[in-house]
Amino acid sequence: MSISTDILIIGAGPAGLCLASSLSETGLKIVVLERQSEAALADPAFDGREIALTHHSVQLMRQLGLWDRITPKEISALRDARVFNGTSLASLNIGHDSSKQNELGYLIANHLIRKAAYEQAKSAPAITIKAEVQVTNILHDSHGVQVSLNNGEIINTQLLIGADSRYSETRRAMGIAADMHDFGKTMMVCVMEHPVAHEHTAWEWFDYGQTLALLPMNGAQSSVVITLTPDEMDPLMKMAKDDFNREVTARFKHRLGPMNLVSTRHAYPLVTVYAKNLVSPRFALVGDAAVGMHPVTAHGFNFGLKGIDTLSTEIKNAVASAKDIASISLLRRYEQAHRRDTKPLFLATHAIAKLYASESAPAKFLRASAIKIGNRITPFKRAVAGFLADAPSKSISHSRIR
Ligand SMILES: Cc1cc2nc3c(=O)[nH]c(=O)nc-3n(C[C@H](O)[C@H](O)[C@H](O)COP(=O)(O)OP(=O)(O)OC[C@H]3O[C@@H](n4cnc5c(N)ncnc54)[C@H](O)[C@@H]3O)c2cc1C
Repeated sequence: MSISTDILIIGAGPAGLCLASSLSETGLKIVVLERQSEAALADPAFDGREIALTHHSVQLMRQLGLWDRITPKEISALRDARVFNGTSLASLNIGHDSSKQNELGYLIANHLIRKAAYEQAKSAPAITIKAEVQVTNILHDSHGVQVSLNNGEIINTQLLIGADSRYSETRRAMGIAADMHDFGKTMMVCVMEHPVAHEHTAWEWFDYGQTLALLPMNGAQSSVVITLTPDEMDPLMKMAKDDFNREVTARFKHRLGPMNLVSTRHAYPLVTVYAKNLVSPRFALVGDAAVGMHPVTAHGFNFGLKGIDTLSTEIKNAVASAKDIASISLLRRYEQAHRRDTKPLFLATHAIAKLYASESAPAKFLRASAIKIGNRITPFKRAVAGFLADAPSKSISHSRIR
């Protein structure tokens, strides 16, 4: 069987589904392909990720119809952030700007974002989701793209989108290379209760031999993030619950009191990706397939949403003026804007992650100095807070010149 659509998206993750929803009122026909089952999309399993969202992302999620699908008790406020180094109790403290907002951002579990994105896309008549399918071949020329599936179906489309994760097979099939960096570390995420209040403050603790993070959730619990080498992580993943509780409490130097595991544990290899090109004729990459961030600055999905906003605005403008929705000039404008929005923080995050993973004497000196100096320079802290909260660039540059 052969069908035609205007836009074909490979990958029904948060990025693919949000792009589909953002275009659902344009009159364009959209098909989304996913290799997981429809049941897995409708009720995604807990995956340990708590996603820190900027104010701009919240605004975009509201516009997309996702925000109202998440119950308020599942949304936790992120007021401030503290960055620790080594064994020192001193920290770089990044506070929200109380003249503008009460929070730096918000935290929502990834599986709830996925569920809301699926429900929103499913409710739109213009969107068809085809689950449990695999792409077997992609043919493309200047007029269109033809995608063959493992069930024998052929789909012709004007524009193909790769939204199939940082390990995107579609990116590879389209001949687009990517800069990939394997940090050789594994990040474990889980939810733990603890008696010492978090006061809705996130911690990033670049300890020696490990990196710890704490993301405050509603109630007396946090998302705990531990980064270690794979051979150090393996026993931690398999450890009996009571041993795990003791081990993590000790790793946090008892600063939060005795900690208690209340979720499953999930491990992710630390691999970052930046595609060499974000577009090619009649093709664009979005989400992690375009830019797969290091989670330390919590910007992966925030960047995904930003890119979707940029690309869908271009496509909507093309529809409104009866122009080609997949012209190379349109795609290049998206590529330029998305690079500009993401590359500086991608590179800065990479440098921070490398510096704080190093324990050489000069690195230790630099690590400690950066925290001390950063704390003394109020405009620097305001700029970081603005960046984290994704405040309009005007307020960031304003704080720089004061
Ligand atoms: C531990 C951790 C913490 C994070 N914390 C934050 C945070 O605080 N803030 C933030 O903004 N971001 C954070 N992120 C990043 C965020 O989770 C990702 O940016 C986001 O999930 C990417 O969405 P995506 O749709 O691009 O890709 P994915 O979520 O990877 O979805 C891709 C989809 O494509 C499907 N797929 C893959 N290959 C194929 C194929 N060949 N055919 C069909 N379907 C396919 C997959 O099954 C999946 O459904 C974090 C990530 C991690 C690992």
